[in-house]
Amino acid sequence: MPDQEDFPIAIIGAGFSGIGAAIRLKQEGIESFTMFERASEVGGTWRDNTYPGCACDVQSHVYSLSFEQNPNWSRRYSTWQEIQEYLIGLVDKWGLEKHLRRNTEIVSAEFDEEKGTWALKTNEGDTFTARVVLSGVGGLVDPSYPTIDGIDEFSGDMFHTARWNHEVDLTDKRVAVIGTGASAIQVVPSIAPLVAKLSVFQRTAAWVVPKFDLEYSPRVKRLAARFPFLLRIARFFKYWLSELLGPIVFLDSKLLSRIGRSISMWNLRRQVQDPELQKRLTPDFQFGCKRVLVSDDYWAAFERANVELITEPIEAIRREGIETTDGKLHVFDVIVLATGFLLGLAAAPFQIRGRGGRTLDEAWRDGAMAYKGMTVSGFPNWFTMMGPNTGPGHTSVLVYTEAQIAHALQAIKKMMAEDIKYCDVRQDVQDRYNEGIQRRMKHMVWGSGCHSWYLSSDGRNRSLYPGFAWEYILRTRRLNSADYEVAFFESERQLEESDEVEQGLAAAP
Ligand code: NAP
Repeated sequence: MPDQEDFPIAIIGAGFSGIGAAIRLKQEGIESFTMFERASEVGGTWRDNTYPGCACDVQSHVYSLSFEQNPNWSRRYSTWQEIQEYLIGLVDKWGLEKHLRRNTEIVSAEFDEEKGTWALKTNEGDTFTARVVLSGVGGLVDPSYPTIDGIDEFSGDMFHTARWNHEVDLTDKRVAVIGTGASAIQVVPSIAPLVAKLSVFQRTAAWVVPKFDLEYSPRVKRLAARFPFLLRIARFFKYWLSELLGPIVFLDSKLLSRIGRSISMWNLRRQVQDPELQKRLTPDFQFGCKRVLVSDDYWAAFERANVELITEPIEAIRREGIETTDGKLHVFDVIVLATGFLLGLAAAPFQIRGRGGRTLDEAWRDGAMAYKGMTVSGFPNWFTMMGPNTGPGHTSVLVYTEAQIAHALQAIKKMMAEDIKYCDVRQDVQDRYNEGIQRRMKHMVWGSGCHSWYLSSDGRNRSLYPGFAWEYILRTRRLNSADYEVAFFESERQLEESDEVEQGLAAAP
């Protein structure tokens, strides 16, 4: 078994995946890892998204690490600040600072087949050599800016939800929000009471189910701190409830969709009284096809006198505001772009060169694919967290992330114990796995005719996992060596030694 110093591990990204992986390595007594974070602070999405009302729409007991349960969540659905504090707290608690290189971006990676190592180049110009790479760069990171005519002409303030400009005071301003996705529905009710006028530009209405958020009393928090098993019980029930209800959100079933639709319509009717407005806010696609949103106050915001819904398509952005296709110019002081993200997992985050000099982008020319969402043939010892087809539509993404970390950890321990140079998933195994995933996709609601970030340009879903989380966990639980081409240092050494012996014998008089 090699010394840990001979087994450097790189973790790219210090968001939930990176921090979770680092903690699990520490728990296993593995200290030879370095975390690279391109920003000055950890937290990933919870560092970048600070817009008013930003909170996780998955309950905190499930949207947290199972091995780091937090008794201090202030409410059922935590705000970005609390989640960010939780992550910063974990870095402190587990002494991750000494492993962390802040402001250090990995700009390229190249595999050396002879040595079984990855050379990671940083933006500072140095190179880090790693035996294993755990990539936790996230899937929805870079904002997607819309291509609207005249977008640069606007004379007021304009910013994206993921790059909120806190210097701009919205009080008594005329504000436009473009988009009605998960980010917009949190911004709209939060800023509506502040602004003079709020206009929401809706291209596609969204299905929204009730949130039933609540604050946890100091007593509940004290109990949770005193009896940690209560947190485990809460997590257990919330997780299994989401699995139980999952088929309503992901199966292409008219009957199940009707249940989801009824819940959402009830949510709409309790918040909006005007039948005409109800009609304009009602989606025309199957429930679950786009991400189902969770809110108790988004639709209610349209009942306010200062909030209007605009469904007329946008023609252009002008100096004064937004022009719609009916020729009307809507004048604004501020435009908020709640227009989503570029799907990061569709392409390599930077140039990654695997065996034979092939790049990941070349390997993914026909779409992003990986074995169990984690390993790609030709790119040995590289494990991606939140990779292709590992996102859920119905539960916490962290359940999947933890399964991926556990899988990578198994591989690392095996490599260390058996002196393995590299493991490279077999192409036929990866292909079979993905054929299975795409076969199952035919039964999922995501391809039922709507337009969403779930689908790539060829209409395939390469972002979500078509099934239950428990099943993904079972599939990833065991590392099957037969799925991988495995190269050992030992056998090479033996070969070298036997070559030397043969040469010695041949040279002997
Ligand atoms: P999104 O779901 O992609 O929504 C973007 C919105 O902008 C859509 O309504 C889209 O309309 C609209 N849009 C885009 N370009 C437009 C244009 N040129 N003109 C008019 N409208 C335009 O983005 P998001 O709301 O930021 O959410 C993205 C993902 O981030 C979510 O699905 C979720 O996974 C994650 N998220 C999670 C949470 C959480 O609480 N866990 C919160 C926020 C975000 P169309 O629908 O017509 O395309």
